[in-house]
Amino acid sequence: MQKIEHIGIAVKNIEESNKLFAKLLNTEHYKMEAVESEGVVTSFFQVGEVKIELLQATKESSAIHSFVEKKGEGVHHIAFAVQDVNTELERLKTEGFDAIHQEAKDGADGKVIAFLHPKSTNRVLTEICSDKYVTE
Ligand code: ZN
Repeated sequence: MQKIEHIGIAVKNIEESNKLFAKLLNTEHYKMEAVESEGVVTSFFQVGEVKIELLQATKESSAIHSFVEKKGEGVHHIAFAVQDVNTELERLKTEGFDAIHQEAKDGADGKVIAFLHPKSTNRVLTEICSDKYVTE
C-alpha cells in the first residue's frame, strides 16, 4: 500500500455536510459525483495529500443507508492507494482477508476500487484504489 488516498465519511445530507466540511477544512469541495452502482452521491475535499470523501445514500438498498441507520453519521472507510487493485486484492486474499469485491470495479473520482470485509480487518472497512487509467 502506498498511502492513505482518502477517508470516507457517511452523511445524511451531503449539501449540509459540504457546508460544514468547507468550514471545518477551510476549503470548498472540488467535485461531486454519483456512483449509481453503490446508490451513493459523493463529494470530495482535498486536504494536503489526502482526500475526504463524503457519501450520502441515494436509495434504501445502499450500504451507506444501512450504515447511517445503524451507526449514524461518521467515519465509514479508509482507502489506501495501491499500484494495482487486482494484484493487491490477490495478495490480501492470500493473507486471509475477506474481499467484498472479487475484482476491481469502477469507483468515484477516476478510481478503480475494491473493499475488504470489515470482519477481517478489526472492523475497519478498508478500500483499496488505484487510478482508472494506468498505462503500463
Ligand atoms: Zn472511498
